Amino acid sequence: QAGELGQQTGHAVYVVGGFVRDLLLKHPNFDVDLVVEGDGVAYAAELARIYGGRYKSHPKFKTAVVILPDGQRVDVATARLEYYEYPAALPTVELSSIKMDLYRRDFTVNALALHLSPERFGDLVDFFGAQRDIKDRVLRVLHSLSFVEDPTRIVRAIRFSERFGFRIGGQTDRLIKNAVRHSFFHKLSGSRVMHELRLIFEEKTPLSCLRRMQDYKLLAAIHPLLALTPSKEAVLLEVENVINWYRLLYIEPQPLVWMLYFLGLCTGLDPEQFAIIARRLNFSKRQAAEMAALRQQIRDTAQGIFNWEYHKGPPSELYFLLEPMPLEGALYLMARNPREPLQKYVSLHLTTLRHKRVEVTGNDLKALGVEAGPRYADILRRVVGAAIDGLAVCRAEQLE
Ligand code: ATP
Repeated sequence: QAGELGQQTGHAVYVVGGFVRDLLLKHPNFDVDLVVEGDGVAYAAELARIYGGRYKSHPKFKTAVVILPDGQRVDVATARLEYYEYPAALPTVELSSIKMDLYRRDFTVNALALHLSPERFGDLVDFFGAQRDIKDRVLRVLHSLSFVEDPTRIVRAIRFSERFGFRIGGQTDRLIKNAVRHSFFHKLSGSRVMHELRLIFEEKTPLSCLRRMQDYKLLAAIHPLLALTPSKEAVLLEVENVINWYRLLYIEPQPLVWMLYFLGLCTGLDPEQFAIIARRLNFSKRQAAEMAALRQQIRDTAQGIFNWEYHKGPPSELYFLLEPMPLEGALYLMARNPREPLQKYVSLHLTTLRHKRVEVTGNDLKALGVEAGPRYADILRRVVGAAIDGLAVCRAEQLE
């Protein structure tokens, strides 16, 4: 129907990019990217109208996103004929707009399109040998200036190579090494680097991606303080183990996995060094302060738990030490202290203690005649503590 709609408006419509790649690889992918040889925004508006969805457009880029009633998002772009700024570009006059659109993409395997127009429905459009590369399981850029145009493609190459088990082609590998040698990464904005790092952290095997980045000296190219060291690698390996352990528990909420890996990558940095990294990655003042505070909280909590263990405190004290800690901080504490009792204590908190609920509320205290005020919070806290320590303290006056 999306293709018929294109036909009515006189435009060819294609589904492109990762969706087509994953179709050929038989990988599930629900991110639909459409390219219209014509006015993509008008097409998106019409698509939204017919399906009863909504759409948001970015007229400057001639793109739009349609949100269908079931929540499915469809990205729509306009294939434009425009002159390419780079010397490697072919004269645009010779290219159809879909070919030009595909030529701007990162790797051959992502430069496939599938016709949706009714008369050619399902025909593959493959100008750059993508089907052969998928068969040979190889990632290749489309031209030799690809990494000059956009160095983030180097990180994308590693990410896709790890995800699909594809090798990086010989020429592409040489171009990566050349790009690193010529410090292309230095010019790259921190936000774009961080965006790519986050995508790496959200892959199934972030650590192997980071090792590949290290082999290409990419981490040091972002900033020397980010280079992998044996101790960082050990922590990142534990981060992976802890995340897998936590996933198997099926408890909500799920942690922000990227944050755990990021903390791991910053292991061993002192606060000044961390501030340098936060600046390099363009963190906002607030983000940088929040992350620095979390790192401090992790250190303080670890110290608190060591003290608690030393003076053999009750379980409630452990609960109150860990309760203010975000889940990511607690999991990172486990990863940072493998094979130590501390790991066991934090896991006890996450699996058992933090789920303790008490039935007493402020209203109950009121009914018992306790005068309203700040004492309520203190009393309720002690009820929780008592419940955790297994004490049968129920009477209000005992708690005062
Ligand atoms: P994923 O499965 O990780 O979402 P994807 O291939 O769908 O992978 P997206 O980042 O969603 O990747 O991008 C969609 C498409 O846009 C890609 O398939 C690729 O053709 C193109 N693309 C994305 N980023 C770049 C880039 N930096 N340079 C060139 N083309 C890109």
